Amino acid sequence: MSVVAVLETIDLVIIGMLGAILGSFVNVVGYRVPRQESIAFPGSHCVVCGHRLRYYELIPVLSFLFLRGKCRKCKSSISLRYPMIEIVSTFLFLYTAISVSSPLARIAWWIFWLFLLACVATDITSFRVPNILTYPASIVFVLLSGFFGIQPWGMAIGGAFLCFFVLVAIHFLSRGNMGLGDAKLYFSIGAMLGPALGIETLVLASASGAMIGIFMRIVGWLEAKQKIAFVPHIAVGVILTVLFGHTWLHDYVTLLTRP
Ligand SMILES: [Zn+2]
Repeated sequence: MSVVAVLETIDLVIIGMLGAILGSFVNVVGYRVPRQESIAFPGSHCVVCGHRLRYYELIPVLSFLFLRGKCRKCKSSISLRYPMIEIVSTFLFLYTAISVSSPLARIAWWIFWLFLLACVATDITSFRVPNILTYPASIVFVLLSGFFGIQPWGMAIGGAFLCFFVLVAIHFLSRGNMGLGDAKLYFSIGAMLGPALGIETLVLASASGAMIGIFMRIVGWLEAKQKIAFVPHIAVGVILTVLFGHTWLHDYVTLLTRP
């Protein structure tokens, strides 16, 4: 192995660990922000018995496995959301490091992924996408997208407004089943992905929501009219679009325009 290859591997290990640790922080934000608790104090604890977590209970993913998904003191189950978000965050940090060469664009994507996962967590824990996350994000991601070269300025601003207004329209057509929080979240998604891919994420999110929803009804995990969190499906749509969206969109347009 050459020196360069060794250094690149060390680089990726550090980036992966950073993704896992920040993913763990996103879990804290996702649980505490909708409850208007401080994200710094008190330190991480079991939400059932209040047991303060020791350093070895705070290692992303590994602690969950080591504790077999249960609090060490009261034995109540720890939500699967914790390791899932940490794993997805690690994957997205590494994927971005490998596929995006510009350091500034990498940073923009990393911040975007943490924001998106924080919204997933708040939606799962409280069915809310808090304004305190989406309002600042709207400005931050238009600026990051434009200045750090994710999208041309017109695409960043156009994508943000198009996605936002499409979601607002769905909000009214669905008589509020799709929340306005989702629309505010889509402002940031449109800014980072642009109009075409932004809408593609929505198509994929709806497909994911419908498929999982039907599956959960069939196996009896979901009652009729029971609320389900939609942001996890939005995240699925966004991640799939970033990974494969350009190819799928290209194939689709080719299919439509074939003589
Ligand atoms: Zn406990």
